Amino acid sequence: MRGAVLHGPRDVRFEERDAPKIIEPTDAVIRLSATCICGSDLWPYRGINPTKEPMPMGHEYCGIVEEIGREVTSIKPGQFVIGSFFASDNTCPHCKAGYQTSCQHRQLVGGAQAPSLRVPLADGTLVATREVPSADLIPSMLAASDVLGTGWFAAEAANVKSGANVVVVGDGAVGLLAVLSSKQMGAERIIAMSRHEPRQKLAREFGATDIVTERGEAGVARIKELTRGVGADSVLECVGTSESMQQAISVTRPGGYLGYVGVPHGVQLDGQDLFFRHVHLHGGPAPVRRFLPKLIELISTRKIDPGKVFDLTLPLEKVAEGYRAMDERRAIKTLLRP
Ligand SMILES: [Zn+2]
Repeated sequence: MRGAVLHGPRDVRFEERDAPKIIEPTDAVIRLSATCICGSDLWPYRGINPTKEPMPMGHEYCGIVEEIGREVTSIKPGQFVIGSFFASDNTCPHCKAGYQTSCQHRQLVGGAQAPSLRVPLADGTLVATREVPSADLIPSMLAASDVLGTGWFAAEAANVKSGANVVVVGDGAVGLLAVLSSKQMGAERIIAMSRHEPRQKLAREFGATDIVTERGEAGVARIKELTRGVGADSVLECVGTSESMQQAISVTRPGGYLGYVGVPHGVQLDGQDLFFRHVHLHGGPAPVRRFLPKLIELISTRKIDPGKVFDLTLPLEKVAEGYRAMDERRAIKTLLRP
């Protein structure tokens, strides 16, 4: 089998890898209908996270179950399934509380930029659709695996409610789907911070009511102006830099909620500043598994179309070009067809 392997900064190769097989009796092997490149894959791709040894890439997946281990009971070969980047048992106390990405038995799922994939803890991790979805729904189903689930968690963590004023910091695929999620949760006003015209357009399609192009202090001032000096009820941080986090905290109203899902790189918070702001902070790796049944339902009934974030589709063997396009911001998100 051939799949994507990162060897060092900007060196992704499509090369021979061992085909996945059942190792534990709780595993499943799935044949991928589609896979994709995540914004977080760009951290190691750019060398910001060092690559110590060749690393199979990809953690977003959906597809058809080919084989199951002897202890798997809820998933059958032939079913179409979606899972998240952390495998989880879905039975431990953290899973029961809805935090499957903190599962006591969690395992990272890696190497999904390939034709097939081993998924541990298949019963707890995978959610099957009622029937195999039609081809045009596959990009949206794939989005549910991570990028939509993460945007949804940002909105949940930021307590987006009917009638809320929302600010979304970040116009990557997660930020755009955080806009879509906020709209689904009934937000009245959704202010998207974006300086890129194609992304602004998609943000508006997903439900943004206002676009703010300013950043830093000017961005904070503009949002204060739009919220009559009060700040937003719910702020969704989808970048993970010190600047974006500070901007997000600064535009949240006292008593408001900040949901943060951008993986932090160099973020340090000032305790004194936080103390006097009265802001609720909640975030982390999105427990996508909690949301999958709901997201699959919304996609199957065509109430949402998150697959629109894929603005580039390539055959899997062109994976290196997919990374380049995202690195150079020529593409928001690349879908790969095995
Ligand atoms: Zn668990």
